[in-house]
Amino acid sequence: MAKAWFLTSRPTGLPSADNFALRDLPDLPLGEDQLRVRNHWLSVDPYMRGRMNEGASYAPAYPLDTPLTGGAIGEVLESRIEGFAPGDLILHLGGWRDGGIITLDHMPRLLPVQWLDSGIKPQCFLHNMGLTGGTAWIGLLQVAAARPGDVVFVSAAAGAVGSAVVQLAKAREMTVIASAGGPEKGEWVRDLGADAVFDYKQGGVLDQLRGALTRLGKPGIDVYFDNVGGEHLDAALATANGFARFALCGMIDIYNGAAPQPLRYIGRAIAARIRMEGFIYSDLFSRYMEEFYADMGGLIASGAVQMRETVHDGLESAPTAFGGLFAGQNIGKMLVRL
Ligand code: NDP
Repeated sequence: MAKAWFLTSRPTGLPSADNFALRDLPDLPLGEDQLRVRNHWLSVDPYMRGRMNEGASYAPAYPLDTPLTGGAIGEVLESRIEGFAPGDLILHLGGWRDGGIITLDHMPRLLPVQWLDSGIKPQCFLHNMGLTGGTAWIGLLQVAAARPGDVVFVSAAAGAVGSAVVQLAKAREMTVIASAGGPEKGEWVRDLGADAVFDYKQGGVLDQLRGALTRLGKPGIDVYFDNVGGEHLDAALATANGFARFALCGMIDIYNGAAPQPLRYIGRAIAARIRMEGFIYSDLFSRYMEEFYADMGGLIASGAVQMRETVHDGLESAPTAFGGLFAGQNIGKMLVRL
């Protein structure tokens, strides 16, 4: 019998074990337009925190006392959807569970066989070849329209999105300044090619960003890829060159209810003609999917983009893995392996 995590109460502040319960799913016969799957990999992502609040974020709120959903890689056991057969590996939104029935609402998609055959691992479609890599690619190259020669600043740079931004920017001959929490993360981001890395926990962001620009001999930044908000966004405003572009991807510093920090340098948005644009992956992915797969797949195959994962084992670990995102416990993509 399959099991799933249910949200039983809405978190106040950081999510805790009390907000979740692991329950059996009913063992039902397979209906039309349904698949029975066994999941191998589950994704936990910061956006899920917004869906745990009352009221819609950019995605609808998770209802209480129903199975949670999220990205997953599963294997088809039984199919009543044309085009899917037992043994197929699929990407779908029926995560937070070890298997069971997947409907069309879970948006099942076959993993592209040509990329699996080229050696890309299935779970990579939950990160560099999926949500987080796609978010990095769309935000950096389409939203911020970053070009060779640009100075790019990226926050949460050792995370799933941030590490993809660093590598995509270096593959296109940009200068990268990266912020990440802690020495181990900093070392990895430097290994990925970032030109300057600082630890935002060891001093003010603005002072450290200015120091990095001075060391690199650059007057300011052309692009800011924001994963964090607050002090990082303010420092980016303070150091932006004329006509800088900001891709507003995430503001994890306020996801657990902290009051937003004031932006002391917001006035520079006008003086420096800064273009700031928020974007959501799901609005844009289908438009760029083929171009993204070809580019990112090629970069992974050539070794220009590496993948790193922080893996928790077993369905029981899903809430712990999820909570770890907000304590910086991941390097690369946070995943649950079943
Ligand atoms: P990450 O893998 O980057 O994990 C989150 C990281 O954020 C942590 O490891 C931690 O790194 C950092 N962090 C956590 N809390 C704070 C805080 N209070 N202040 C500063 N840093 C913090 O997650 P993702 O790569 O999946 O997501 C990165 C961002 O992108 C998130 O904001 C997410 O919401 C956003 N996103 C947006 C999408 C869109 O469509 N717009 C799609 C996907 C993601 P550290 O140790 O360095 O602090």
